[in-house]
Amino acid sequence: MFKWECLVCGFIYDEAVGIPEHDIPAGTRWEDVPESWYCPECGVGKADFQMIQVGQSAEPNPVPEQSDPVIILGSGLAGYTVARELRKLDSDTPILIVTRDGGEFYSKPALSNAFQTGRLPEQLVTFSAVQMAAQLQAQIRTRTSIERIDTEAQLIYLDGEPLRYRALVLALGADARRLELQGDAVDEVITVNDLEDYRRLRQKLGVDSRIAILGGGLIGCEFANDLRHAGHEVSVVDRASWPLSRLLPAQAGEEMANALASIGVRLELGNAPVAVHRAAQGYALRLADDRVLEVDYVLCAIGLAPRVDLARAAGISVSGGIVTDAFLQTSARNVYALGDCAQVHDLVLPYVMPIMLQARALAQTLVGQATPVAYPSMPVTIKTSVLPTIVASPMSAGGEWSTERAGRWDKGIAHVKSIYLDQQNQMLGFVLMGGGTKEKAELQKRRPNWGEAGGGPTAVDKKA
Ligand SMILES: Cc1cc2nc3c(=O)[nH]c(=O)nc-3n(C[C@H](O)[C@H](O)[C@H](O)COP(=O)(O)OP(=O)(O)OC[C@H]3O[C@@H](n4cnc5c(N)ncnc54)[C@H](O)[C@@H]3O)c2cc1C
Repeated sequence: MFKWECLVCGFIYDEAVGIPEHDIPAGTRWEDVPESWYCPECGVGKADFQMIQVGQSAEPNPVPEQSDPVIILGSGLAGYTVARELRKLDSDTPILIVTRDGGEFYSKPALSNAFQTGRLPEQLVTFSAVQMAAQLQAQIRTRTSIERIDTEAQLIYLDGEPLRYRALVLALGADARRLELQGDAVDEVITVNDLEDYRRLRQKLGVDSRIAILGGGLIGCEFANDLRHAGHEVSVVDRASWPLSRLLPAQAGEEMANALASIGVRLELGNAPVAVHRAAQGYALRLADDRVLEVDYVLCAIGLAPRVDLARAAGISVSGGIVTDAFLQTSARNVYALGDCAQVHDLVLPYVMPIMLQARALAQTLVGQATPVAYPSMPVTIKTSVLPTIVASPMSAGGEWSTERAGRWDKGIAHVKSIYLDQQNQMLGFVLMGGGTKEKAELQKRRPNWGEAGGGPTAVDKKA
């Protein structure tokens, strides 16, 4: 019996235990888990899993230095996945990964459900930078920022030292957006977008802290659910009339609002934060309706801004993100971009699934088999344990939502299904909640791949 770990989110599948709640009995070997099964934490399907046997490790081998390396900037999911995919195809080309963080491989999606899954920040780290270097047969420079890129000479500069690349991959991620607020405590508003941010948050939180979350999108709702389950007092402030308003139709959004309220999350909907001031204890958060929330911490979760500065300074074309074509090629020769920093097919898709697909396509291109990235239907799992939710956003506008509900979420038997049909009755999107999530595989089959339905993903696919 082995344990296996999802490299995307760190979920452990233990063959000895199985997952009885997913109808996988104890003793089921990984190869016998049905292909239709998906990771309960990040929603990645079995066929898309990168599983490794827990405990497997390798000693670092010397990296051959015979040619200019592929240089990857960034050691997040995008940077490490493209390195891993490249190594599957090519064991010789030197790979250099440069990152300004510690280079640990960890599951970013797990940051917003770590309380429920009982994992401390250090337990979210699957591999250290040294272990990653060994696995990938790569050099990894941690705590290093790139000064500039010279795309003409194919050089990057690190501490004044020029390094030549054969291909350069920008996997720089995105910064958490901040709200423009008034008040003397604006700089003390917290954002959580990486492991370091999360460590700091865990250190700050006392027992029963009062936390205001600005933004009721995917990250805001997941943190609300998780922090509330950990016993904190949580308020969510959002301009919209229901949570997850960019992903869910109104009726499904109301179900989410009811579910969060049922565990004691206070929802300030149709409202907006205006100012944050220091108070005798914590902060006073003033809302647009002039009421004031007295809280210990203010957490801003209003979305992401792709990191484009380095590319822009190098003369590479940027817009909402670093602009690429379908081959993830930027406007500069031999420079590619993927992940949260990239704008591919005119879209920034800051989710796990697109990154995995981008990384696979890019690895093929890097070994000389030019491969465009193609997106199948890619539902996103929202890790609100009080009401688990799967969203496949509509692929084009002009259709209508209809919602069926059965059971009661507060009795643990909620079953919500919203379907988005176009004028020809073609299903272009769906939302499944609670017990309804079991229908994911069935609905996936009915939904066309992106590009087959006369449209690509719409703005709602951008992370709220
Ligand atoms: C709390 C949270 C929950 C999430 N939950 C889900 C989910 O449930 N499902 C889902 O699909 N997606 C989820 N996501 C999104 C998903 O985690 C991201 O899309 C993905 O991790 C982004 O990977 P990345 O490699 O593009 O960026 P990052 O992980 O941000 O990596 C960027 C890397 O670039 C490095 N870097 C940046 N600038 C420089 C520089 N100048 N020099 C050197 N290095 C630099 C950084 O140090 C870092 O290593 C979640 C995100 C968050 C924050």
